[in-house]
Amino acid sequence: MKIHQVVTVFPYQLIYRDVSCSCSTQQIVIGVAELVNKTNGPWFTRLDEELATAFSIYCGISIAHSLLYKRVDEAQFRSQLANEMMKYHMMVSDEEVTRLLTVGIQPVEEIHPSFSSFTYTPRSLADDSTPSAIMSMFEDMGFINTYKINMSTLARFCLMVKRGYRDPPYHNWMHAFSVAHFCYLLCKNLELSHYLEEIEIFALFVSCMCHDLDHRGTNNSFQVTSNSVLAGLYSSEGSVLERHHFAQAIAILNTQGCNIFEKFSRKDYQRMLDLMRYIILATDLAHHLRILKDLQEMSDLGYNTRNPEHHNLLLCLIMTSCDLSDQTKDWKTTWKIAGLIYKEFFSQGDLEKAMGNRPSVMMDREKAYIPELQTGFMERIAMPIYKLLKDLFPRSANLYDTVVSNSEQWGRVSHKLDIKGLPRNNSLDYLDAEFEHLQD
Ligand SMILES: [Zn+2]
Repeated sequence: MKIHQVVTVFPYQLIYRDVSCSCSTQQIVIGVAELVNKTNGPWFTRLDEELATAFSIYCGISIAHSLLYKRVDEAQFRSQLANEMMKYHMMVSDEEVTRLLTVGIQPVEEIHPSFSSFTYTPRSLADDSTPSAIMSMFEDMGFINTYKINMSTLARFCLMVKRGYRDPPYHNWMHAFSVAHFCYLLCKNLELSHYLEEIEIFALFVSCMCHDLDHRGTNNSFQVTSNSVLAGLYSSEGSVLERHHFAQAIAILNTQGCNIFEKFSRKDYQRMLDLMRYIILATDLAHHLRILKDLQEMSDLGYNTRNPEHHNLLLCLIMTSCDLSDQTKDWKTTWKIAGLIYKEFFSQGDLEKAMGNRPSVMMDREKAYIPELQTGFMERIAMPIYKLLKDLFPRSANLYDTVVSNSEQWGRVSHKLDIKGLPRNNSLDYLDAEFEHLQD
């Protein structure tokens, strides 16, 4: 915002000096005060002149303020207009809602016989069947009944959230859907209700759906270095993207006919939003690394349902394990997902190069060695997460075992490529073409 200073010069010209301009001498006359025809005397005295000067100063300040206010007002209207346009283009039509409701809620077993099992890969579901599958999970977890959710509100909410995702290779709606599905799997298979309150589980599931809303396929450090609008809004608080994902979730809830929490008491409503904020912000891996020691401590001590801090830590751990759940699926899925992740990373790297910056190795298609980067990621990030989950929920042991086996598989791929004497920056296309030959 520009700052203006008003100066008054005799005879009462109101001058508008643009002090934000590099040449601060630029002056614009914003008004002229003139004294004519003194009614109670033949001429103006020195006192009259002083009074007129003081009066013109106040007039000048008022005019400058109102000009500034008008500009702020205009900026607000412009932003409101952009918001309205965005909402219009995001809007879900009544026909789409009716179509989704006409299908009705399918029992989960009808979606796929192993829909509730850890071996199921949610990414195998067709994109247009996903909103209905989300509704089936809502029903199967009892949310619709417990929270008296209006069916058409739920349908509109699901369609709006789906529409709120862009289409980068990895951080798209299919990612959010598979993350929410993994949360459903944990609820069904690990009896989460013995560990968390019902509202916490509900918040987890909705947060999973919303946790990457409007992701642009570039990470937090890119937002900051590229001075993006999002960085302008949130960089002082950190976790730029995560704050935006949460804000988008709230914008959807505030859209007419989308508030699935409308029947909540004021207290529960506030609790739900606080939980969603907390959970979505926890998807920043930097946050996960900050609380890793506390998670380990909780696992060593044993989970205490009466300890609210344990509830918070468990919510974060579950959210992160849902976010990385592609790593718990079969090897072929893990392989395919790595392809999507690096496709997104490399296009960020290309953008960074075009901006004259040097991307990190992981984002640089000329330097990244995917099998080695993947092994490192699995060992340093993914494996400790599922190890913690296994220690807290022994029934999740298979998940940890699959992550370990996938990590070993990446190690074997790396070894085979080395034997072939190939350069270490083999392209995604090469790896894809060689998939069958690089297996055991
Ligand atoms: Zn995510």
